[in-house]
Parts: sequence; C-alpha cells; structure tokens
Amino acid sequence: MTSVTERLQQVKAHIHRANSSFAPGVHSVTLLAVSKTQPASAVREAAAAGQRAFGENYVQEALDKMASLADLRSQIEWHLIGPLQSNKTRAVAEAFDWVHSVDRLKIAQRLSEQRPAGLPPLNVCLQVNVSGEASKSGVAPDALPALAHAVAALPNLRLRGLMSIPEPVNGLDAQRAPHRALRALFDRLNADGLALDTLSMGMSADLDAAVAEGATIVRVGTAIFGARA
Ligand SMILES: *Cc1c(COP(=O)(O)O)cnc(C)c1O
Repeated sequence: MTSVTERLQQVKAHIHRANSSFAPGVHSVTLLAVSKTQPASAVREAAAAGQRAFGENYVQEALDKMASLADLRSQIEWHLIGPLQSNKTRAVAEAFDWVHSVDRLKIAQRLSEQRPAGLPPLNVCLQVNVSGEASKSGVAPDALPALAHAVAALPNLRLRGLMSIPEPVNGLDAQRAPHRALRALFDRLNADGLALDTLSMGMSADLDAAVAEGATIVRVGTAIFGARA
C-alpha cells in the first residue's frame, strides 16, 4: 500500500515532468490536494509531508475537518472547489482562504459582505462553463467579462482567475482544447485591464493537458489520496 506521502511525491514529480516537457520555464504550478470525502487524518499526513493547499467540495464536511485540524490552521490554505449556495456563503467567507466556484454576482456580493474584517480578502476564481450544454455550473463565456469586472470591484474579495471542470474526454489533444479555451478567456480579461494570475484547471486524469495549456493550480484528489468511497 503506497502512502499519501509517497503518492504526493509522485504527483509532484509528474507535474514537474509535465511542466518541463510542455511549458519549460514558463510558469510554476501549485498542487491543490483535493481531500473531499477523505478523513482529517489523511490531510494531516499530507500536511506533515509539506502539502499546503487543500480543496474541499462540501461546506459542512470541510468545516468539520477544519475543526479537527485547527492546530494546523496557519500551515494550511483551504480552497472551496464545489458548488456554493447562498445559505452557505457566511460560513465560507469566515473559514476559507479561496473559493474557485463563484459563478454568480449574488454569491460574490454575499461573500464580500460576509468576509470578516480581520481577515485578508477572500481569493476568488470564477468557474467558467467551457464545455457548454452538459454542465450546469459555471458562467457562460459570453457572460464572463461583465461578471469578472463586477467581482473585481468588490472590496473584500480578490479576483485571482478562472476555474473550469471540462467534460471528461480521452487523449491529450482533446483534453487540451477546453483548457486552451479557458486560457484564451483569461488572456482576454487581462488584456482588458484585469490582473488575473490564476488558472485553476486539470485534475488527476487531465493533468498533462492542463499544465501544457498554462494551469497555475491543478486540483488532484485520487492520485494523492486513492479512490474515494
Ligand atoms: C473531485 C474534484 C477534483 C479532483 O478529482 P480527482 O479526479 O480525484 O483528481 C478536482 N476538481 C474538482 C472541482 C473536484 O470536484
């Protein structure tokens, strides 16, 4: 049985290889360890191995885990990557460092209003529906510029970039296409005056494709923690 520590090293080596072969010297890629459904003990093991950023999908599960790991709070960055309903925004604004899944202005406004005064601005990515039809979450590319400029103007948020969860497909070229589309939207927003630095794209199955297209955060669960129950 391979340990979380060993798998973490393998994933980091994989990202490093992908970065050197597809995008040599261009950018650095942050590994977000997706710990949804995994016990606090697995997060603790990964943190002991030096992992800093953790991604969670379900707010209540994340809050419970944070409570068990309160002693590690200063060493861990918590990222919400799952859908966010308005009745959960206060808890998220109070407990998380990042939210990757903002796709409506109303949610962003609530997060900004509810971010506690003593904390730094909440880092936010806008989730974009790059694959169209099938996925329910994410802002449509047409509506992205207006949303991005409105969110960037909110006082207690820091708009960092874009996130996507493309339809699963096989093959490097097919996997690269939606990531390239997200990258093009990102470049356009920056050309239009925003200062975005984050492209959150790529999971265990399409890591190479995402890194090749300029991902700055890859979100990896299974390859680190094993299959989810
Ligand atoms: C679960 C999840 C991941 C991680 O997926 P793996 O296939 O386990 O690497 C990444 N991003 C999001 C949004 C997820 O929900």
